[in-house]
Amino acid sequence: MNYSFWEQQFITKPTDVTIIGAGIVGLSTAISIKESRPDVSIKILERGHLPYGASTKNAGFSCFGSVSELMEDIDSIGEATCMEIVKMRWLGLQMLKQRVGKQHLEYHHCGGTELFRAGDHQLLSACIDKITSYNEMMNDHMGLKDCYQLRQNEVVTSWLPQAIYNQYEGTINPMSMMQRLYQIAIEKGISIFYGIEVQDLDQENHILKSGGNMDIQYKKLIVCTNGFTQMLLPHLEVVPARNQVLITKPMEGLTLNSGYHVDKGYVYFRNYQNRILLGGGRNLNPDGETTFDFGHTAQIQTYLEGILEEIYPGASNLIDHRWSGILGIGPSKFPIIQWLDNHILVGVRLGGMGVAIGSYLGKVLAERVVETVNIS
Ligand SMILES: Cc1cc2nc3c(=O)[nH]c(=O)nc-3n(C[C@H](O)[C@H](O)[C@H](O)COP(=O)(O)OP(=O)(O)OC[C@H]3O[C@@H](n4cnc5c(N)ncnc54)[C@H](O)[C@@H]3O)c2cc1C
Repeated sequence: MNYSFWEQQFITKPTDVTIIGAGIVGLSTAISIKESRPDVSIKILERGHLPYGASTKNAGFSCFGSVSELMEDIDSIGEATCMEIVKMRWLGLQMLKQRVGKQHLEYHHCGGTELFRAGDHQLLSACIDKITSYNEMMNDHMGLKDCYQLRQNEVVTSWLPQAIYNQYEGTINPMSMMQRLYQIAIEKGISIFYGIEVQDLDQENHILKSGGNMDIQYKKLIVCTNGFTQMLLPHLEVVPARNQVLITKPMEGLTLNSGYHVDKGYVYFRNYQNRILLGGGRNLNPDGETTFDFGHTAQIQTYLEGILEEIYPGASNLIDHRWSGILGIGPSKFPIIQWLDNHILVGVRLGGMGVAIGSYLGKVLAERVVETVNIS
C-alpha cells in the first residue's frame, strides 16, 4: 500500500482508545464511550471498505430466542445463564431502536414465528409444553407478557399445522442500521479508517502492525473482531461460523408477514419487499462452515433451495442473489468480555443474535474502558 506521509501521520496519530472492527460492536462501543466521555479520542480500524464480517451481511431479524432455542440453551447452560443472555439481547434491541430510530432501522414489528417441519412432531410437542413456563420466565426477567403464543401455521402447508409466535420480535435492514451508526459515530468525532487490516498485535510494546507497513501505537485497545478474532488472538475460544443466505426476486402474492425460524434457529426466512430472504443450514456441515472464507457451497445452497421450494413452489427459479457472512461462536453463547492485560479489552463471540446483543455489549465495553482511560 502506497500511503503518503500525510496519510500515515493521520492514521497513526495517537488516540485514547483504538478499536479494531467497525461492525455493530465496534461502532456501538465507540458511540457509547463518546456519550459518556466526549473528551475521549477514538479511532476505529476496519479492514474492509464496508464492515467485512456479519453486521451488514446478516438476515435482519430483530429477535431474542425461539422456544426450541431456549429449550436447547437451558439444557446446556441452565436457566439463569440462558435468561441473562436473552435479557442482554432484549436490552440491546431496545438500545438499538432508541439510538438508530425505527425509521433508519426500517423496523417492521411483524413478530417472530417458529415453524416445525414435517418430521418435527416431538420437538413441537416439547415446545408446546414449555410455552406457559417460558412466558412466566420472560415476564419475570423482562416484563414481557404472553411472549409466546400457539398459532396456526398458515405459511407452509406441507409442514406441521401449529406454530409458535413471539409478539415482541421484528425485522430490520442491517445496512441501513449500520449506515446510521456510522453517521452517528462521525457526528461524534470518531475517526474510522476503512481498508486497514491489523495483521499483528504486539502486546508488549502496545503496537498494531497493519498492512502498508504501518505501526500504530495504542493506549487502550478494544478488539471487536468477532468471528475473525483467532486470526489475531488464537488462544481465545471463538471460532468463525459461516452462514449462507439467498434472496429471491420480488414475487407476487407473497403472504409471509413475520420473521420465521425453523430447525432451532438454524434456518430462517422472511419477506423483504416481496422477496423471500432465506439463510442458515450451517448445522448440515458444521466443520465445513467453520471457516474464515466467504463463499457458498453446493451442499448448503441445494438444501436452502429445497426449503425455498417448500415455502413457495417455483421460487428456486427466482433466486436473485446469494452471499455469506461470518459470525463468531464458541463453547458458550455468552459473549467474551475480557481484559487481556491493562490495555486490551476484548468484546467478541456474539453468536447468531448479534444484532440484538451488539448495542448492549458496546455499552458494557464502553463502561469498562472509560473507567481506565487517562486523557493525555
Ligand atoms: C448470514 C448471517 C445472518 C445473521 N442474521 C442475524 C439476525 O437476523 N439477527 C441477529 O441478531 N444476528 C444475526 N446474525 C449475527 C450478527 O450479524 C452478528 O452477531 C453481529 O453482526 C456481530 O457483530 P460484530 O460487530 O461483533 O462483528 P462483525 O460485524 O463481524 O464485525 C467485525 C469487524 O471486524 C473487522 N475485522 C476483523 N479482523 C480485523 C482485523 N484484523 N483488522 C481490521 N478489521 C478487522 C471485520 O472486517 C468486521 O467488519 C447473522 C450473522 C450472519 C453471518
